[in-house]
Amino acid sequence: MKNRGSVAIIGGSMAGLFAAISLRSLNFNVHIFERSAGDLRNRGAGIATHNELYDALETAGVKLKTEMGVQSNGRVMFDNQGEVVHRVEMKQIMTSWGLIYRFLRKQIPEENYHSEHCLKNLSFSRNSVTASFTNGDSIATDWLIGADGARSQVRQIVAPTITPIYAGYLGWRGLIDENLLPKEVLDELSLQMAFGMAPGGHWLGYLVAGPNDALNEGNRWYNWGWYRTADSDSLQNHLTDATGEFHRTGIPAHLIREEVITTMRAEAKKFLAPQIEKIIESTSAPFLQPMYDFSSKQLVFERAILIGDAAFTARPHVGMGVSKAAFDASSLAQALSKNNPASLGEWESSRLKFGNATVQWGRDLGSYLGPKASDPESLKKAEYYMKPETLLSITAASEPQQYLRLKT
Ligand SMILES: Cc1cc2nc3c(=O)[nH]c(=O)nc-3n(C[C@H](O)[C@H](O)[C@H](O)COP(=O)(O)OP(=O)(O)OC[C@H]3O[C@@H](n4cnc5c(N)ncnc54)[C@H](O)[C@@H]3O)c2cc1C
Repeated sequence: MKNRGSVAIIGGSMAGLFAAISLRSLNFNVHIFERSAGDLRNRGAGIATHNELYDALETAGVKLKTEMGVQSNGRVMFDNQGEVVHRVEMKQIMTSWGLIYRFLRKQIPEENYHSEHCLKNLSFSRNSVTASFTNGDSIATDWLIGADGARSQVRQIVAPTITPIYAGYLGWRGLIDENLLPKEVLDELSLQMAFGMAPGGHWLGYLVAGPNDALNEGNRWYNWGWYRTADSDSLQNHLTDATGEFHRTGIPAHLIREEVITTMRAEAKKFLAPQIEKIIESTSAPFLQPMYDFSSKQLVFERAILIGDAAFTARPHVGMGVSKAAFDASSLAQALSKNNPASLGEWESSRLKFGNATVQWGRDLGSYLGPKASDPESLKKAEYYMKPETLLSITAASEPQQYLRLKT
């Protein structure tokens, strides 16, 4: 098969790796440029799987169906006394970001993956695009793919007006060895996704693959998240370290002030089930992330193309970031292989539609979080999405297609 051309991919995480695998299978000459040193294995947490994710993996040529994660049979919500208030049956495999990442990363030869390459600028000519990096390197290729995440430098160059919007809440998160949990808590909560409701946001947790992708009892991790409404003062407080520095886009875990963690633990004791409080108590280093989302209006900019979180970042409740990244990537590879502008145009309009639908669904799911709505319609929507039966059925659902409103 003839070489179909050269592609530089900025960002070596999910979207970048999926794109590289798909393009290489179609005989493109591909190089990934990732700003971080080493691998990204410990970056992510739990990923709820669904049919779209399996389809996306398969379409991208990734055979990772069995032994992919920990079985969950359904969802359960506890009140603050620890009593079950609602149950939903939903069989689902809970995998981990690291497991998928490692599987993908192995498929890219070292000579095609360039760590410690942070994109600085782009320049365009009629037939090529040149990327220059902060370390002084540069490369000219036929195409450049921006797979550099929600704060994409590629997007800042080609579409500077599109920026992430703070959703009005943040997410506390924890990922801990299951052996650190009291046995009675683990026995009660394993095999299901557990939920709790507190004023200002819900908590959820489930078992995922452990370090080295272990899936057997005793070697797994417990992954949890707790969404908390935070106005601008509260956000500032949470993201300011002990030296007074404000980390606007996210604070590294080791810089979170002890008093902020202590307050979170005290609120857990007050508002959440005793079982859940024990999980939080057992987590020595919880971390937090402010929640942002945004939509793009355009994905193709001459020879530079946005995919994954760089193109659209939906709130995590939808649980679709990885499958969207995979579909963006594999369908883009197909479109580029056809080598005509119409195919690329069709790709762009279908991915814009899909991206907008995931962002909207995330906003719907998060409609009761953040600043309280004032108009009756939004209040009605918020009430609907915070009902246990809605929350448990729709969050990171095993069949997301039914909730995505793909407008024509
Ligand atoms: C709390 C939470 C829970 C989630 N749960 C789920 C879930 O259950 N299911 C699911 O599918 N998704 C989930 N997601 C979303 C999922 O993790 C992301 O959608 C996915 O990782 C996006 O992949 P990406 O490659 O587009 O971006 P990223 O993973 O952000 O990767 C971007 C890469 O680009 C690199 N980079 C950035 N700037 C530059 C530069 N200038 N030069 C070179 N490299 C650069 C970065 O270092 C990074 O490696 C969740 C996200 C959060 C925050």
